[in-house]
Amino acid sequence: MKPRLFSLRQILLDLAILLLANLLLLWLAQRYQLLSALGTGPDDGNAQTMALALLLCVNLAVSLALFAYRRARESHAMLQELNTIAGQDAVTGLANRRQANTILERETERSYRTRRPFSVLLLDIDHFKDVNDNYGHLAGDQVLAAFSQLLQKRARQLDTVARWGGDEFLVICPETEQSGALALADDIRQRLAQTELPVVKRLTTSIGVATQTLDDMPETLLHRADMYLYAAKNAGRNRVVGEAGSANRERRLAPDE
Ligand code: GH3
Ligand code: MG
Repeated sequence: MKPRLFSLRQILLDLAILLLANLLLLWLAQRYQLLSALGTGPDDGNAQTMALALLLCVNLAVSLALFAYRRARESHAMLQELNTIAGQDAVTGLANRRQANTILERETERSYRTRRPFSVLLLDIDHFKDVNDNYGHLAGDQVLAAFSQLLQKRARQLDTVARWGGDEFLVICPETEQSGALALADDIRQRLAQTELPVVKRLTTSIGVATQTLDDMPETLLHRADMYLYAAKNAGRNRVVGEAGSANRERRLAPDE
């Protein structure tokens, strides 16, 4: 079980242990006449007091350092936890839009450097509003979670699957050309159509696929993916539309292909 961070009980326990350790040390110093061993004889009252004060100061400094070290470790763990939560979508556990934007920027830079393009898949569930209207919002959430699992299972380890918002999802595929991304998108589309989901049983999705070019910024790439998604919806849904200007321009995958 994960320890609770900054728990009052733990802090009080730490303080009690340090207090006891300090008292024990002072008792030992007294019991075994450690102060005399430090060079102050039993008759030398002032020097004894000084030595005792010094011992107390050292104890206090060590105790404070130990206490601060434990709290610093807790702060670090809490910061990591907050970072994870800040980048996560609460309903699906996927990366959220904020995290996806960070990864898109990183991939854009990497792609400029390596001159290897990456691709994005923008997916939108077809007629998802009907799920909410017919079965309620909670059932809708369950369906979103199941859809997310399907995406994560099919995507590669290196890919990022994110909830872009509502019933829209984004898959970022590093070092992937348009043909590979189109194949992945159509595989996802087909799998979804064949998968039994909770509550609604069957769903379909429309997907826009865009591949980064050398003058693309994340916004322009996403804008194209959005346009293709829109085209897929307009063409009747349950289909994939990719780059019209790419070498694969003829490969517009549709259910009947
Ligand atoms: P289309 O095929 O054109 O995409 O039709 P659609 O019904 O899916 O339309 P649209 O994509 O515009 O609808 C998205 C719906 O998703 C609307 C909103 O009620 C629902 N939605 C958005 N976020 C959530 C959520 O977190 N949970 C649930 N259950 N529903 C959500
Ligand atoms: Mg939709």
